[in-house]
This record gives sequence, C-alpha cells and structure tokens, in this order.
Amino acid sequence: MQTSKNKFHQQLEQLSSQCVMCGLCAPHCPTYQLQHNENASPRGRIALIRALARQQIDIDKSLQESLQSCLQCRACEKVCPSQVHYAQLFSLAQQQYLSPRHNLFTWLLHRYILVQQSRWKTIHRLLKGYQYIINIKYIAPLFLSFPVIKKTTALLPSPITSLTWKNVYPANVKQKKNILLFNSCAHTLLDQAVIEHSILLLNALGYNVFMSDKQACCGLFSKHQGDTKNMARCNQKNQHLYQQLSVQYVISINSACSAHLHESDIDSTIAHFDIIDFILLQLKNTPLQFRPLAQPVLVHIPCSSKNILQHDAALLQLLHYIPQIQLISFNNQYCCGAAGTYMLKHPDTAQQLLTKKIYDIEKYPQSYLISNNIACTLHIATALKNVRILHPVSLLTQQLTLTTA
Ligand code: SF4
Ligand code: SF4
Repeated sequence: MQTSKNKFHQQLEQLSSQCVMCGLCAPHCPTYQLQHNENASPRGRIALIRALARQQIDIDKSLQESLQSCLQCRACEKVCPSQVHYAQLFSLAQQQYLSPRHNLFTWLLHRYILVQQSRWKTIHRLLKGYQYIINIKYIAPLFLSFPVIKKTTALLPSPITSLTWKNVYPANVKQKKNILLFNSCAHTLLDQAVIEHSILLLNALGYNVFMSDKQACCGLFSKHQGDTKNMARCNQKNQHLYQQLSVQYVISINSACSAHLHESDIDSTIAHFDIIDFILLQLKNTPLQFRPLAQPVLVHIPCSSKNILQHDAALLQLLHYIPQIQLISFNNQYCCGAAGTYMLKHPDTAQQLLTKKIYDIEKYPQSYLISNNIACTLHIATALKNVRILHPVSLLTQQLTLTTA
C-alpha cells in the first residue's frame, strides 16, 4: 500500500518533471538577477525539488535557503513555455521540506488571532504598544540594531490609528445590491483609509457594503509560512461566513488576497472579485464623475496583479476614468521585494530589489504612485521621499465628485 509520503514524492516528481530545464524563465526571476546563481533561479529550485523527491539528496540548511529565498512572485510561471505549475510545486515542497516551526507568538497569531477579524484588535493593541516602546529614546537603538525589528518599525504607519467598522454601510439609492467587503488583515491594521474609500465608492455605485468581524484572514499569511492546515481553516471559516450572509458578491481590496481567494477552492455560490475589476465593470453601467488630475501618476503593478490576476490592463483602464490623467510607465518587470512577509525575513534582498525601483520612481517628484497591494505599498513607502503612494481606489475617491452622470 502506498504511504502518503510516497504519494507526496510522486506528486513532486510529476510536477517537477514538467520542467524541460530550458532556462527561459531565468531572466524574469528577480533572485537570479541579483545573485546569478543557478540555485536562486526557478530552474535550479525545480531541480533541487526533483532531486529531493527522488531522494537523491537530503534537505540541508543551504538547500532550505535556496528554496526560502524564492519570493513566490510567479514571474517564472507566467513566462514558462512548458506551463510548469511552479506555485503548486513550490507549495508542496514547502509543506514537505520547509514546515513552519511556530513559537508561542506565531502559533497564537496563526491559529487564534488571524482566523477571526474581531481578534485582530489584539494585534492592533500590540503594535500600538510596540510603537510606544520603540519611541522611547534609550530603548530605540537597542531594538533597532536587529534588522527585522528595524524593517518592521519602518513599515508601521505613525501613529497607528484604529477604526471600528459597522456591519453595513447602506447605499443611498433605491435599487440596491449587497456586497461583502473582504478587508485584508493588513489593511485593517495598517491602512484603514483604503477601506473607507472603498465603502464610499461602492456606495456611490449603488451597493450596500457589508462587513463582518467573523471574517478570517484569506489564508495567504499562513500559506507564506507553509502552514497549509491553517490556510484551509481560514478558507473554511470564510466559506461558512459567505453562506450565512445574503450578499451577491465578495469584493477584496488587496491584490494578493484577491489572487489567493481566486485560486482557493472555496466552493461558493457567491462571486468573488478584486475591487479593480469590480469597479471597472460597474462604471460601465453606473457612470460616476471624476475631477481632472494635474499631477502625473506612476503605476506599480504588484506581482499578484500581473502574474496571477493578470488585470494590469484593467487597472490602467480604470485609472483612465480620471480626466486628463497622465500615466507614467516605469520598471515594473521585477518584484519590489515586499512579497508578503518576505521583506521581514530577507531584508537585504528585499532592499536591493526596492532600490532598483525607487531610482525610477524618484525621477518624478510630486507625482502619485499607485499600488493595489498593501505589502508593496508599505515596503515602497519606507524609501519614498517626494512621491505620495495611494491605492487606486483612494485616488478615484479623491477625484470623485459624488454626482452620477
Ligand atoms: S520552469 Fe519552464 S521556463 Fe523555466 S526552465 Fe523549466 S521549462 Fe524552462
Ligand atoms: S517565483 Fe519568482 S523568485 Fe521564485 S523562482 Fe519564480 S521568478 Fe524566481
């Protein structure tokens, strides 16, 4: 009888053997571009996983590092002519060879706090307390000598604000439809303005916006740690919530959550949309008026938008609803280095990738930079001086005249 371990190896073998080792993905891989090392390329990582699955090599620290240094940006998957399912392969390898070792804090965070929005307030209080301590004159240098603490501190908005959400925000029109706003944990904790702006815009489009403190994290945070069990728990909780609410659509704000929800096997009768695609669709039937914008706008396209949702064109189309908008394209080829929590675990690589982008962005002072991913936004904002970074929904809301055409 086949053991589950053998099945696992077979699956890894089957997925990795789709790769014909052509190397066409290498120029698109950010870690390969930085290190010029085969073990930091998609082909190298696939070869390692294949050798592990065949039990030709054993996992050791340097192999773990090769796998862990992958940003999971999926640029390789997008360009692969053999259509290798890199993300699926990587996720299985992660479960088998990089299983998470939780300490008490991460265990509580994953298993207890993230699975229910009403408990996210706990993290909020912890972050506020942390921000208070880190600002004490004699303590700061002590803490900030640790790279992960330095990066975390730079990412936090100052001061951290909190908002209490209502269960429903009704639209002021007769023919109303109901949607559930899937606000990401990161937005809820670190950038509530985008949630407010999303509610405003969706109300203006005639939607009653429901929110629920029973919502769980989309599960991506657990996936990034290789904790697929908790990812499945989050999925189940959200599926249960969808079934309880009588909403037609679930709309998520953050591109990474949208991409994850899009690929999760939540078998729901409710349609899920990323807010960019949803608003674009709605504006075709419910035109709204926006004020012209004088400042130039640079558009950062997150990897989740580009490589998974593939809605880069939709994002640009949506921004063109703002009259006279001047969109400036810049180097969007590589990941900015944020990649969920990657920027905290690999701060040096994340910083090198960011530096390349910032050089291009800072050529346009007094402009706006648009990003629909909260991790990219926080990461990029740590290095920006003269450019304001906004979610596309926030820019649209800022330019909205609040009268229907
Ligand atoms: S992942 Fe695809 S593009 Fe990259 S080496 Fe394998 S087959 Fe070639
Ligand atoms: S997911 Fe991104 S970082 Fe990882 S191998 Fe593919 S291109 Fe490279």
